[in-house]
Amino acid sequence: MRPYVTLPNKQYLSEPGSTQATSLYIAGAWRGAAEGGVRNVLNPYDASVLTVVSEAGPADVEAAVAAARSAFDDGDWRLRPANERGEILYRIADFLQRGREEIAVMESLDTGKTIEEGRIDVDDVTAVFRYYAGLADKEAGKVVSTPEGILSRVVYEPVGVCAMVTPWNYPLLQLSWKVAPAVAAGNTMVIKPSEVTPVTTCKLVELAIEAGVPEGVVNLVLGTGAEVGAAMVESPDVDLVSFTGGLATGKRIMASAAETVKKVALELGGKNPNIIFPDVDLDTAVDYALNAAFFHSGQVCSAGARLIVHEDIHDEFVAELARRAEAIKIGCGQAEGVQSGPLVSAEHRAKVEAAVARGVEEGARIIAGGSRPDDPELAKGYFFRPTVFVDCDRTMDIVQTEVFGPVVTVERFRTEAEAIELGNNTDYGLSGGVWTGDAGRGDRVAAGLRHGTVWINDYGPYFPGAEWGGFKRSGIGRELGQAGLDEYREAKHIYRNLDPQPQRWFG
Ligand code: NAD
Repeated sequence: MRPYVTLPNKQYLSEPGSTQATSLYIAGAWRGAAEGGVRNVLNPYDASVLTVVSEAGPADVEAAVAAARSAFDDGDWRLRPANERGEILYRIADFLQRGREEIAVMESLDTGKTIEEGRIDVDDVTAVFRYYAGLADKEAGKVVSTPEGILSRVVYEPVGVCAMVTPWNYPLLQLSWKVAPAVAAGNTMVIKPSEVTPVTTCKLVELAIEAGVPEGVVNLVLGTGAEVGAAMVESPDVDLVSFTGGLATGKRIMASAAETVKKVALELGGKNPNIIFPDVDLDTAVDYALNAAFFHSGQVCSAGARLIVHEDIHDEFVAELARRAEAIKIGCGQAEGVQSGPLVSAEHRAKVEAAVARGVEEGARIIAGGSRPDDPELAKGYFFRPTVFVDCDRTMDIVQTEVFGPVVTVERFRTEAEAIELGNNTDYGLSGGVWTGDAGRGDRVAAGLRHGTVWINDYGPYFPGAEWGGFKRSGIGRELGQAGLDEYREAKHIYRNLDPQPQRWFG
């Protein structure tokens, strides 16, 4: 049963049934959309209206970009000592921890994930803010070795106005990877979360205001990608677009940004191999494989959705995986004991179901899940059972295309070389895992995999200090780490001749 947990009362969240909302934050004020648009945000557990928020249009995007432009060009934000921006980030981190439970509940209600997953997100997000708070004033540039009489410096400056577009699976977390380094570097920004999950993005703006971010530095617009997101990318006054989302959208954004030669940072999808050699403890490897595939109902860009298992242990491995997949307790994300929530939307579940049907047509065999749960309690929500496909091969669509749901495929391999080859047999290159008791083999496979993150005998963890991003079609650029800050900085070379004398080159 759904426990009585509700969204907190906030000025940017209107009651279900409202025809007005003030959820856009532009030039230092919460306001409604210029054309008065609103949107119902649904609870994925039962399709009820969770809240009503503003729905922006092109005029709102224009106002938000103008506010960010003016705060960058005319304000003192980018000129302030970097440690002041670091202090703001530390304050946001403190406020995130102060509001940990409230924010976890907000994220859980909005995305369907469990409250415990929400708490983990808040802790991870806090760590990211602290990391960039610490990095903000550590390095302002460098002095270059030159001939005598010349002073050559490279200084790091903010890029300018940044447009940030984020997905629905980790609304707060994906946003933090952009906002924290962008603030540290002195940029101004316009943020747009997925229209499906706007709630914690509004909350983060609330915390940024409280932490002392000046007017115009952070602006928030809500709405669809096709209208609001596209207008942000097209705007000639935006200097950089940082996008996290699907491959097809990423391609469109890159093409559109080319028109004004904006910088683009893209974090796109993945179809991530998880390779299991026979010399591992089977119980542990199955446990991690289950997590890799089904955490947050598989709606994770780095999900271990493509298992590649040595033939000697294949049958035993998949039997145990299927047994444990069937035992995962799915239900309301706010209920005690529930291990996995619903998918985010009806539209997304329909995509997952179509992918599963295609897998069956291609000849892959389902040994767990494959359908909606039959529990009447879950009938209104967007649930889908954890699903395991066997008899898969590399040519299949179900093996190659990102499903982004609770679906894992299993292939067999015989040799180390074959495992690496299969692991790289994808257009994506986001992440992968390898399980082996042989340390040398683990490192050889990690070296061979063309993915941005490789886990050896683990799956999923990341650190704010370690760069995250994709090889191949999984993206361009890096988030987190020093490189995640550098995305938001321009390097400027300043050359000074200390004693200029006539050159007489032209006599
Ligand atoms: P999506 O591409 O449909 O949408 C992402 C965001 O882009 C949303 O805010 C959407 O409104 C906006 N958008 C859509 N069309 C747009 C356009 N033409 N111009 C500008 N903005 C537009 O993705 P999604 O379904 O929300 O998220 C799932 C995808 O995100 C998956 O492919 C997943 O792998 C990826 N993802 C990647 C990472 C990573 O770190 N690489 C992390 C999380 C999610």
